[in-house]
Amino acid sequence: MFESVIGHARVTEMLIREALRPANSYLFVGASSIGKATVATEFARVLLCPQSADHEEDCRSCRRIRTGNHPDLIEIGLEGRQSIGVEQARNIVQTATMMPVESETKVFLIPEAGMLTEQAANVLLKTLEEPTGSTIFLLVTESETDLPSTVNSRCRTIHMGRVPSDLIERHLLSEGVEPGRATALARVSGGRPGVAIGLITDTEIDEFRTNWLRLPGRLSERPGEAALLAAEVEAWVAPLAGRAVSGSDLTKDERQREERRTTAALMESGLEILATWYADAAAIQYGAPLRNTDLPLAELTAISPKRAVRNTELILEAIADLNANLRRNLLLTNLFTNLAG
Ligand SMILES: [Zn+2]
Repeated sequence: MFESVIGHARVTEMLIREALRPANSYLFVGASSIGKATVATEFARVLLCPQSADHEEDCRSCRRIRTGNHPDLIEIGLEGRQSIGVEQARNIVQTATMMPVESETKVFLIPEAGMLTEQAANVLLKTLEEPTGSTIFLLVTESETDLPSTVNSRCRTIHMGRVPSDLIERHLLSEGVEPGRATALARVSGGRPGVAIGLITDTEIDEFRTNWLRLPGRLSERPGEAALLAAEVEAWVAPLAGRAVSGSDLTKDERQREERRTTAALMESGLEILATWYADAAAIQYGAPLRNTDLPLAELTAISPKRAVRNTELILEAIADLNANLRRNLLLTNLFTNLAG
């Protein structure tokens, strides 16, 4: 069970117990590309399988889930629209009243539940509220605030965190990825298996990390130069994000949205990599173990440990501000100026 999921052991163990007596609706919440939809789909597989997926070899039901052909797993996507509107919601409500085709349960999976309009969410409320005994809703979103609280309060919320990089690395190794590359991918993905997998064949993974680790030596207090550097950083991130999502089977709108999310995710990973440089600069002078073992030591000791600690904090603050959707270019320019100052 849940064997296709990377990490999330606590969540999957809980869901195995949940499957014995499932709630009417679940809400999976967490950052992009960490595997929320994969976990939700696996949960659907366990719920729909006549043997609760407790078998060595896939049964017919499980096979149909994996190939996306199970009549009782109904996935509600955007289908080219900007949001999931009232009409789609009414269709869901109507389908929910019908008997399952093959299983004892019908599962509705909404991987972009944050895109439900408020009216659509209101239409769904009654169905979420009145358990029919044979219908289970699985909603997936990045933030609970994307959904009206009336919907949240009716769901059992499953919070999912980022995946430890050693687990991602181990998975990549098991997929035959060469060791050095697996390490680099795991580091760059920042705990998001989806990003690591999307970049498996990318040739610029090592360069991405090296570029971020070289930034400290290139910073300037002059805002003009910092702005140029900020633009350069954007130019490392955007094409990589584009390539990370290019292999997936998405419509144009979905791809753009995924690309935006992946850009934000990679920007965060990059800043975290930059923070490790300063953390190492402090660590080496305090005699603590280093995160990066391939950095020139002379550069690390050129900055005082006190400033290194301060800079690590500045970067972590910038990451928090990025997540609060402040303007990225301005934020990076500011950060780079402050790091040098
Ligand atoms: Zn099965």
